[in-house]
Amino acid sequence: MTKLRLAIVGAGPAGIYAADILLKAERKFDVSIDLFDHLPAPYGLVRYGVAPDHPRIKGIINALRDVLDRGDIRIFGGVRFGEDITLDDLKQHYNAVIFATGAIRDADLDIPGIDAIGSFGAAGFVSWYDGHPDFPREWPLDAASVAVVGVGNVALDVARVLAKHVEDLMPTEIPANVQAGLEASQITDVHVFGRRGPAQVKFTPLELRELGELRDVDMVVYDEDFDYDEASKAAVTSNKQVMVIDRVLQSWRKRPSVNGEGGEASRRLHLHFYAKPVEIETDDTGRASAIVYERTKPDGQGGVVGTGELRRIEVQQVYRAVGYFGSPLPGVPFDKKHGVIPNHEGQVLHKDSNERVPGVYATGWIKRGPVGLIGHTKSDAMETISHLINDQGSWWTPADPSPEAITRLLSERGVRWTDLDGWHRLDQHEVALGEPHGRARIKLVERDEMVRVSRGE
Ligand SMILES: Cc1cc2nc3c(=O)[nH]c(=O)nc-3n(C[C@H](O)[C@H](O)[C@H](O)COP(=O)(O)OP(=O)(O)OC[C@H]3O[C@@H](n4cnc5c(N)ncnc54)[C@H](O)[C@@H]3O)c2cc1C
Repeated sequence: MTKLRLAIVGAGPAGIYAADILLKAERKFDVSIDLFDHLPAPYGLVRYGVAPDHPRIKGIINALRDVLDRGDIRIFGGVRFGEDITLDDLKQHYNAVIFATGAIRDADLDIPGIDAIGSFGAAGFVSWYDGHPDFPREWPLDAASVAVVGVGNVALDVARVLAKHVEDLMPTEIPANVQAGLEASQITDVHVFGRRGPAQVKFTPLELRELGELRDVDMVVYDEDFDYDEASKAAVTSNKQVMVIDRVLQSWRKRPSVNGEGGEASRRLHLHFYAKPVEIETDDTGRASAIVYERTKPDGQGGVVGTGELRRIEVQQVYRAVGYFGSPLPGVPFDKKHGVIPNHEGQVLHKDSNERVPGVYATGWIKRGPVGLIGHTKSDAMETISHLINDQGSWWTPADPSPEAITRLLSERGVRWTDLDGWHRLDQHEVALGEPHGRARIKLVERDEMVRVSRGE
């Protein structure tokens, strides 16, 4: 029987679902899969993006772990494509490769002052609080007033974690350095800015509602933002999600903290709609001192236009949460404009000619762009896998497809990779760290320590 030796690069949900779907698919060939990730722990943004106080979503890790625990996928943690292995290496040892490398960078926000001290991308902060080994251990939470630019779920995650009291995050898996950082936080006010109105936001009702339940945090909305135009009114009556969002926001208008005039909490989370940030002002030292925004107004068709009216709010930090962006991989076509690998339904295409690159596939956020929930990566993977199966005639013919060839190569290059048993050791270690404190786990953050524990060294 024909055999497919498949390499998958990226052990986030997209990579793991792709492996699972292929192994369960009806097909006329045997399959063996090697799954590579540059981190010593699998699960991608489920481990390093989903907020720690969302244990139900983090729980998707259990389903992904069940797939790995079946034992029919080999894992190579701590192996970076582009450094430890290349496309040429994969061609030598596999019939095809699927790239599922996701997106971890922030999209740009091109306004004056964006490079100020105290201006950050959401991705850096998220990676810090989720204990990503490749990001700084310290985060300077020395600002009293901060701005969060964006009205998607990531913006609300960032705003919530900034506003929340650290005691309320202690049941979660946050690492010790994050606990210490949050304990030192000076925050009193978090200001979230959205260019458009409440009927055009991107966040989901669940994420919004959660903000209203934060202990000792007043939600502040402003009456002036609820003078809806016809398009907004239509959205509120015709779209269930918008209807619920509107209902939640309207309920906050009845709270004493409306318009920022009352309220008794020690922290406040302000939502500013029709507010387009246009500049970050800085002090003499180059540090952020204020955010300047232009008031916008509805254009009658669901969009907005600027009014020319500028306002400013003093803030000492700015977090832009305006989307993630994929990174190029050496030797693999890349669409710089959209931050994805150019592809047709997961079949990778040459950048300029749009012709297919045989044997090379993509799935997940690097295929489709950084939008959508974890569940969407499953349908993505189905589409990509169905092409992979049908393309049998154009797979590569590897010179040495033996399973030992790749381990030999990695050893020769001095790569200290980790495997599935290693992940179990790391997992158990983190769970044991949490136990005395009544917590589900405490994450390890240092890459070296993760590797040492995984390799039982
Ligand atoms: C802050 C944030 C919060 C989110 N919250 C939710 C939520 O609550 N609910 C929800 O459903 N969705 C949420 N999402 C979306 C969800 O995380 C994504 O839909 C999903 O993770 C995308 O999966 P992926 O496998 O394509 O990418 P990723 O999860 O990013 O996985 C990519 C993997 O590839 C690896 N990799 C990258 N480059 C290389 C390389 N060169 N060599 C080897 N390996 C590499 C990475 O280490 C990573 O493990 C959130 C996203 C973010 C950013």
